[in-house]
Order: sequence, then C-alpha cells, then structure tokens
Amino acid sequence: MPNPDTAAPRDAEVLRDTILRKLTYDLGKSRTAARDRDWFMATALAVRDRIVDRWLEELRATYETGAKQVYYLSLEFLVGRLLRDCVSNLRLDPVVKEALASLGVDFEQVRQAEPDAALGNGGLGRLAACFMESLASLSIPAFGYGIRYEHGLFRQLVRDGWQREYPEDWLTFGNPWEYARPEIAHDIGFGGSVEAVPVSEVRMRHVWHPAETLQAVAYDTPVVGWRGVHVNTLRLWSARAIDPLKLDAFNYGDHVGALADRVRQESICKVLYPSDESPAGQELRLRQEYFFASAALQDLVRRHLRVYGDLRSLPDKVAIQLNDTHPAIAIAELMRICVDLHDIPWDEAWELTRNTFSYTNHTLLPEALESWPVPLMERLLPRHMQIIYLINAHHLDSVRSTHSDDGRLLASVSLIEEGHGRRVRMGNLAFIGSHKVNGVSALHTELMKQTVFRDFHTLAPGRVVNKTNGITFRRWLHQANPGLTSLVTETIGHRVLDDADALTALVPHADDAGFRARFAAVKRENKQALAKVIRSQLDLRVDPGALFDVQIKRIHEYKRQLLNVLEAVALYDAIRAQPMGNWVPRVKIFAGKAAASYHRAKLIIKLMHDVARVVNSDPTLRGALKLAFLPNYNVSLAEIIVPAADLSEQISTAGMEASGTGNMKLALNGALTIGTLDGANVEILEQVGADNIHIFGMTTGQVEARRAAGTRGAEAIAASPQLEEVLEAIESGVFSPDEPGRYRELVASLRGDDFFMVAADFDSYWAAQRAVDARWADTASWQRAAVLNTAHMGWFSSDRTIAEYAADIWQVPVGRRASR
Ligand SMILES: *Cc1c(COP(=O)(O)O)cnc(C)c1O
Repeated sequence: MPNPDTAAPRDAEVLRDTILRKLTYDLGKSRTAARDRDWFMATALAVRDRIVDRWLEELRATYETGAKQVYYLSLEFLVGRLLRDCVSNLRLDPVVKEALASLGVDFEQVRQAEPDAALGNGGLGRLAACFMESLASLSIPAFGYGIRYEHGLFRQLVRDGWQREYPEDWLTFGNPWEYARPEIAHDIGFGGSVEAVPVSEVRMRHVWHPAETLQAVAYDTPVVGWRGVHVNTLRLWSARAIDPLKLDAFNYGDHVGALADRVRQESICKVLYPSDESPAGQELRLRQEYFFASAALQDLVRRHLRVYGDLRSLPDKVAIQLNDTHPAIAIAELMRICVDLHDIPWDEAWELTRNTFSYTNHTLLPEALESWPVPLMERLLPRHMQIIYLINAHHLDSVRSTHSDDGRLLASVSLIEEGHGRRVRMGNLAFIGSHKVNGVSALHTELMKQTVFRDFHTLAPGRVVNKTNGITFRRWLHQANPGLTSLVTETIGHRVLDDADALTALVPHADDAGFRARFAAVKRENKQALAKVIRSQLDLRVDPGALFDVQIKRIHEYKRQLLNVLEAVALYDAIRAQPMGNWVPRVKIFAGKAAASYHRAKLIIKLMHDVARVVNSDPTLRGALKLAFLPNYNVSLAEIIVPAADLSEQISTAGMEASGTGNMKLALNGALTIGTLDGANVEILEQVGADNIHIFGMTTGQVEARRAAGTRGAEAIAASPQLEEVLEAIESGVFSPDEPGRYRELVASLRGDDFFMVAADFDSYWAAQRAVDARWADTASWQRAAVLNTAHMGWFSSDRTIAEYAADIWQVPVGRRASR
C-alpha cells in the first residue's frame, strides 16, 4: 500500500479531474452552479469508480473458487451516510479532501449533503449495516438482501414538545451509490389457487397459480471493506408492476383506473414499517416479507444453479442468515422451490433447507413475536400455507415419536397457535427450519433457552447458540472520532486499526496523567462540537465542561427514558433545596424516535420537553442541570453525540433489552456506563471490570419474582419520599400547567403494576447517579475509567461477532485480514 501522504498530491489531481467530469457529464452541472448536493453526487460517483473493478473481480472470483456465499436477509438496513465510510475504507481521506479543496469545496460540507439512509428502525437494522461492513472487511463473500424503501424511517420533528412524523425522502435527488439492475427481476406471486397435478401413480406435483404477480427488481450497492481489500453487495429489491398500465382502460379514458393496479402493487416498497419491538401485523407487512424473501431465494437459487447445476449442493455453497423472523417465510419458499419446481423429495428438501438456514432471535417480548392469521396466510400465500402445514405435521410426528403424547409440549412447539383465531408462529418456523438459532448477548441467549424456546431447546439441545452483537469500529471509532483515533494510533501504533483487540495496549496508559489529559482534551473537543449542535438546533447553551449524560435510542417503556426523566426532576428538586451545594453540572441529552402509534412513548417525549422547559429556564440552578432533546435521531446524529458522551445510559428493565449496541458505541468512545444487568451490559461489565462501570437495579430474576408476586409500584413509592415528591409534582401538573392532568395516567401506571419497574428501581438508580457524581468530582479517577472503557471494548467489534458466525454457524473461512 503506498503511503497515503506522499501519494496524495498526484492522486488528488486525478480525483479532482474525475469529480469535475462527473459533475459536468453525469450531472450536467457547471462548477459555478454546483451546490453542496451536486458536489456530493460528483464525489460519490468518483469514489464509487474506485470500488467497481474490485467488486466485479470479487464476484467472479467467488464463482471460480467455489467459495461459500453468505446471504444476510434483513427487512432493515440502517445504513446512514456512506461517503465517509467508502473514503475512509479506501484510505482516500487526504486525497478526497485535497481534491475538493483544490476546487474550493469543503469535504465536511459535502459529506453532510448526503442524505442519511434510514431503511431501518433501530438496533436490528443498524446491526445489519455493521455486519455488512464487517463481512466485507473480513473478505467473506456475502450479499445483503432487503427492501429498497422509497421512504425510510420517518423524519421526526418536535412541535410544542410533541413528536410529529414527516416522510423521509432520501431518494429525491438520486442515490449515487446504487446500480439499478432492471434486467435482474424475479416474479413474485400472491393469492390464487393451488392445483395438484398427478405426475405418477404415487406422486402429485403442486402448481401454484397466483392471482397476482409483480416483479422484484434489484438495486445493488457495493459495500467496501476496510482498506478496500474486499467488496460485497447490498442488493435491495424494488417492486415493479408487470403490466404497468391497463391499456384497454387507458384507451377508454379511465386514466386513473388504468394506473390503480400499478400503484397498489408498487406500494409494497414505499414505506418502512415504523414499529420497533412491536409487530406491524398488517397484510402489507406480510407482503413485504414475502416479496423480499422470495426475491432473495429466487436470486440465490438461480445463481447457485448457474454455477453448480444442482440444488442438492446448496448447503455446501450457501449460508442464509435470517435477521429476526421477518424473512422466515423464506424457509417455506425454499421448500416450495425444491419440491414443486425441482422435484426434490420432501425429506431431502427439508434436510437441505435446514442445513442452509440459520436464524437470529432479537426479542423475548411476547407481544413482539411475529405470527400471522392462518386465513390471511391462506389467502395471500396458499401454497406456502400448505407447506407450513406439512412441515408442521412431520415436525409434530417426530416430537410425538420421542415424547409420546405430551399435549402441552405439542401445543407449545407447533407452528400453529390454536385458540381464538389460528395463527402461524414465525419464530417456531424459523427455529425448526434452521440448523442454528442464536441470541444476541449471553444473557439473552440464556433467557431464550428458559423462555420463548424452552421446549425447543429441550428437543434440540445445541441448536441455540450465542453470538453477542458488535459494532464496526471503522464507523463508530475511526470515522466518528478521528481525534481519539489519532491519539490511540500515536500511542499504541497503527495495528489497532486492523485488530480491535490491540486496544488493550492502552491499559497501562490509563495510569499516565499526560495521556489522560490528551484523552480528556479529545473528549472536550467533541463535546464542544456537540454543544454547537445543541445551540443551533435548540437555541440552548450548554457548558462543555459539564458532565454529558446521554440516552439515545428508540423511545420505549422498557428502555426507561422515564426513569431518567424522573431522576432529572428529583435532581432538580434537590438542587433547588440546596442551591449552594456542590453539584456536579450535568447536561442530560436525549434523542430517539417513538413509533407513530405508540402514545405512551410520545407522551414521554412530551414530558422530557415539559421538564426541560422548566429546568432550563430556572436561574436558581445556575447551570447545574440542563436537559436537551435533539430531534430526529439517526445514524448521523449518533455519530456526533457518541464521541461527546461522558455517561452512557443503558437502563432498561432487566431481561428486556436483548443486547443493545448503543451501549457498545458509547463505551468504545470513552463513556462510562450507568446500566442494569441487561443485554450486553453484562458482558461490558465483564470486559471493563466492575470498577469502571456503574451497575444498579434489579436483576432479571428479581424482576421476574416481583412481577410474579404482584408487588405494586405504590410500595416502592411509599418507601421513597423523594420519588413520591417527584411523582406528586408531575401528576399535579407542575410541569404541565396548560393541561394539569396530562401525566395523571402515566404516574398512575407507576403506582399500579409498575410493569417496567421504574418505581421499583428508582432509589437504586438515584444512588448510582450520585456515585457517578462522586467519581466525576475526582477527575483522575473518571478519566482513568474512561480510558479503560475504550481499552477494553475491542471484543465488541462486529469483526469478532462475524468471525464467530463464520466459524460456528456458516462454516465459512474468514479471509485474510488486510495488513499494512
Ligand atoms: C446503534 C443505534 C441504535 C441502537 O441503539 P440501542 O441503544 O442499542 O437501542 C439505534 N439507532 C441508531 C441510529 C443507532 O445508531
């Protein structure tokens, strides 16, 4: 690899010429008329050129060498912006900056003109994006398959403290990263009937005659790995009507009617379902799931047959990972392809299917487990419903043969849920159709074995494995925090860029006051940048010297933003009671979207704003406490907040957060965690050590016991005069004088069953926050802990996670890591 510094000047000239050519000939713009958005497009196209040869080469090589391919099926990819990702992974940073500078254009401004691709809701979608980057960086041949939503996750605006949703138009000005492949299209059927055609005296062939057929068309985005060594493909499907215009209707003058079918069919990829941890449950959602799962399966089967000629070798050459149950219908689809279209006998097809698929579970919340009404399934996917019944019959027969007639067990492991309205359980289908099923943190995997998949785990011990989530350090450290990255490489060498485990070499430097000061200076600079954003967005001044206390994630009751707000009110009361006390100045920073239909979550956002209005304008506090809610949380906003955080709030009710990845991003960037023993927090504790994290609250077992005992929140509140005072203020309208009863019901739920243990954990949380204050007051101790957090986070690289999937689930080799 040439030294980027000396290579820059000439290379920069070449790149400058390419950018200008793209601007002129691809965009038809002159230099003088070009705006940031045009410069972004031109730059992206120029950078993309440098990926294409390697990409095409890679695809060809995979077939020639017969390498096994990984297919990652996910209804969500929360990609964010890509320019800095590509530039940085190609090691072109100085070249691009210089090329743009010579045109009088600022790279940072150009970078920010890129729309944030939000084809996902939160953690699950962001995991898929981090995995795509790590797959490429580890040189594992892979495709990501998903949907090219025209409108990604809604844009969040806040008016008077209330969230409002607006459509996100990320494609309006074109997407320079993607290649449209109108020639790569697969027919996707819905509805209709199934005909049984005898093919011999003993065999029938089932022929599905869909009532309606549309096409899935491919759009490919190259995903370049670290140092540009390997490039994979993210293939997103868009819907296209086969008969776009009913000509006869059109000719009769019914211009709107002629387009109606097309509009209906193409609606399939119009919007991402904006739900998080709750089922979407509607027909269009099932259509989306089948649409992309079928397109993916047809695509990979066609590719496999072209190269190997026989489906029987599929499990040797293909590994399909289901990211949650959303694509689980793919299991029935592969069975249909094998049995109906390729005459493979059922048992052989089932064996082959199970050896090909594996499934990642993301939630234990019963209300979030997907199931579809049988009548809907029968109407929309009649052949798949038959196949699911047949899979179920074989499955239950086999259970019966080993467990006689245990009715409870059979009912629990059946693919069909009986009771009011029969439903297909997608989790059960995904489980039995996969050779490995994984949870996303050690605790979550254990709980999976004890709860949702308890019976399955007994039937198939060894199938459930753990793969603790990870994050790509390229985006979440190198790109988001260049200051810290420079400090780290200067201190322990460049090897850390290729090997996250090398971060542990920072450990001894935690005791070096000089290093700690430089570490703190980087943090300070990042906090100044965030303070600027807060000022410009909220017209609020915050002191970069204050403790930046950050909770950024989807707004959900189990994530307990409410607990954080209650603590803010309690702190506010305490400071006012003792205004001359020695308070640690704090800025509580929130960001997150609530699902549009999740009223309680939206009310919590409103409460944050109501409390912020009172607290931020109270002069007696003298800046000891500020609250800031930054609207429209997305990957790009996270990239600004994460490097600036001192404290990371990971305070979910124990047992309810499957893993979390926000917790990893923040700790990696030197924030201390205040958190419960939930999800990957448990493993963060193991890695960073109990001295460098603030753990509080009930454990999973205690939560379970308290719920079982039916203990009411009122009991905990009665024992905590401080909490009582906070709740009285909120429920009586102190923060909502315009509508005093606004929070009455919310507070009543805390006095009632307190399902999320907000009241029950309050005192413990308060105490942990005061321990945080005490540590902050001891600067050396805080900075030491911050350094040790960064130093011990190497294990949470998604490279480690992907290497584990490769070895234990996919049986694919991890390619040579790029070395310098
Ligand atoms: C990392 C990330 C998440 C996941 O955050 P959690 O705290 O793990 O829930 C959600 N949204 C965005 C934009 C992210 O970057």
